[in-house]
Amino acid sequence: MDPYEYKTSRIDRNTGMLYPDLAEARVCPLCGSPESRKLFVKEGFRFVSCEKCGMVYTGFRAKEDRHEKEEYSEKLRNKDHEAALSADSPKKIRLERLLRKIEKRFGGRKDLRILDIGSGSGISFYFASRKGYSDFYAVDINPGAVEVARERFGARAFLGDLREHGLESGFFDVVIMDNVLEHLNDPCSTLEEAARVLNEKGMLFVSVPNIDSFIIRALGKNHRFFNGFGHLNYFTPKTLAKLSSACGLTPYSVETAVEEMTVSRLFNLMAKRNLIDYDIGSIEYHESKKAPGASSVDKKRESAVKTAAKRACAPIDAVLVLITNLMRRGAYIDAVFVKKQ
Ligand SMILES: [Zn+2]
Repeated sequence: MDPYEYKTSRIDRNTGMLYPDLAEARVCPLCGSPESRKLFVKEGFRFVSCEKCGMVYTGFRAKEDRHEKEEYSEKLRNKDHEAALSADSPKKIRLERLLRKIEKRFGGRKDLRILDIGSGSGISFYFASRKGYSDFYAVDINPGAVEVARERFGARAFLGDLREHGLESGFFDVVIMDNVLEHLNDPCSTLEEAARVLNEKGMLFVSVPNIDSFIIRALGKNHRFFNGFGHLNYFTPKTLAKLSSACGLTPYSVETAVEEMTVSRLFNLMAKRNLIDYDIGSIEYHESKKAPGASSVDKKRESAVKTAAKRACAPIDAVLVLITNLMRRGAYIDAVFVKKQ
């Protein structure tokens, strides 16, 4: 079943909402208050803001479907890696930035124990192993993904909920939760467990979409982040920091990342969707595109134009990144937390 069919089969056409027997009511995941104000309805879900603390979340969640999970994990095996490893993948940029922080904090030590919660097929280990780290631990709810993390990166991999595996307190130097907290019904219980298994010098890296970003402010509820089937919690830098301190942690750094907003990225996306031609003004190129067997030439030109565009856009991108970061309005929040002393 494709995602569109999956969604529409669960929404009552008369009410426009999820069928009541599939919906489980939620309270504020940050302060526990049941009092909320409706923001909007989208694709069967009510999006609300907590009256007490301002946290944005879905008023209920959909009961899970095992079949869909299995399908998802199958997809992960095939597609996840290629997309994340491409040169301008947000995940790559994010993880490389994190690895620089780890290097700084631990003075280049390579014997660090690294746990990835919601690891997927272990892409973070790919980047970490290139920097010389090798002691990896993975937790994920997808059996297929956990298997890949184990096979490709030699990770000790656990299936399901982290809390069920009785890990030793203070065991880890680094814990990664990359785009995980927005999916959890009770994000605090997982943060508390992450804090428990972290050692005194340890770093917890959390990345989540930022609903206070320029891009979401511009697109509003139309932004793809607002997807009740996948995302239950919607953070701003403020509510993420609040949640962490309610769950045994202290912010070490809270930044936003701009990947989706850069001009060169926008150019690439438009070109990918054929909104811009890579070789504007060249008749020859248009002709050769149609000719069979011309793809290798096209690829070469394509990459040359891409590089030139990137170079030309670099100064604009730099200014954009600076402004967006100063205002903390990037598309993602990248935060590092440490144990509350
Ligand atoms: Zn609240």
